[in-house]
Amino acid sequence: MQTGNMQTKNIIYLDNAATTRVRQEAVLAMEPYFSQYYGNPSSSYEFGMISDNVMEKGRKILSGIIHCNPDEIYYTSGGTESDNWAITGTAFANYEKGNHIITSKIEHPAVKNACEYLKSFGFDISYIDVDNKGTIRLDQLEQAIRKETTLISVMTANNEIGTIQPIEEIGKIARKHQILFHTDAVQAFCHIPIDVRKAGIDMLSVSSHKFGGPKGVGFLYIKKGTEILPFMNGGHQENNMRAGTGNVPGVAGMTEAAGYASENLGNLMRYEIMLRNYMIRRIFQEIPLCRLNGHDSKRLPGNINISFEYVDGGALLGLLDLRGICVSTGSACSAKTSTPSEVLKAIGLSDEMAHSSIRISLSALNTREEIDYVIQSLKEDVQELRQKSAKFQEKMEIRRKMH
Ligand SMILES: *Cc1c(COP(=O)(O)O)cnc(C)c1O
Repeated sequence: MQTGNMQTKNIIYLDNAATTRVRQEAVLAMEPYFSQYYGNPSSSYEFGMISDNVMEKGRKILSGIIHCNPDEIYYTSGGTESDNWAITGTAFANYEKGNHIITSKIEHPAVKNACEYLKSFGFDISYIDVDNKGTIRLDQLEQAIRKETTLISVMTANNEIGTIQPIEEIGKIARKHQILFHTDAVQAFCHIPIDVRKAGIDMLSVSSHKFGGPKGVGFLYIKKGTEILPFMNGGHQENNMRAGTGNVPGVAGMTEAAGYASENLGNLMRYEIMLRNYMIRRIFQEIPLCRLNGHDSKRLPGNINISFEYVDGGALLGLLDLRGICVSTGSACSAKTSTPSEVLKAIGLSDEMAHSSIRISLSALNTREEIDYVIQSLKEDVQELRQKSAKFQEKMEIRRKMH
């Protein structure tokens, strides 16, 4: 991988589930708060209030998007922190009530490892199965509930295969049994509509850099009245729940990006779905022996996850990289390890098919011309790798003999 003289203008970026390009308008929105209006939002003079106004205006806009109150938005450093806070904060606050937490087998490591961490404190975690499209088994979820269960954490949409979960149904189950419901909406927020009231969500995690905002900032929605411990001890910021001077430029950028995405959500979704379906259709028409992983329709607008039989996903990523095309195998977090993706295993793929998959995640910045070029590249690179595969050649030989 070359990094020194990377020409970003020649890049075809199809890894928007890993991170996104910061919108120019978001960069401009951040700029004044570095060296011009650099006051501390907690200071009482006018100069500090300018910074505080950024934080409060953000809370207003962000809360409007998910249909909650502004004082239910708590800024964090991003998705990982929001997930850790929601899970450990409610687990410890409700320890007297019970030590059982329910989650799914396809959660992001930020949720999964927060749950694993709690095991050493005596918590018991149930990991619920998903079906072969990646949808959580609601029957199993409800059966797993005990009187000690205090929290259900299920993601709104999956980062690898894009499957959108039935969160309203999960919310209903949680409410019926008076259990808290947290959802990791990092992939979903500003990509599909979300209504925390309608879905009965008590906590929801968001990260700015997944929808055109800067890295290192996000928020956790916490429904008023939720039993949860503060995440950081220190000053009185974030209503005494998350101490530390706020990331004012980050919040300004996140708010701009969220405002744009939410106002244009319908059009952005339609465009991404059009590109996605066009790409899937052509891949299946022009490249034999592939499999689409995830749900056909209950799927994030920009997500494509495909296994190419007899092809190593990592090798394919490497060939595409030589052409300046950025895709991913599994999730960015497991890209550098060779254990197969747990998400792909959970939907029933063999180790071999899991290793044969790549994730393509589109944004509204991608063009039809880019997609045409990527499809042609995929055709050539998949063919090249299959020609080198002894197993593929063997299979072709058997076919020739049969006909
Ligand atoms: C990216 C991502 C996270 C982590 O967010 P960061 O802001 O990078 O810490 C958590 N959950 C999901 C589903 C993600 O896609």
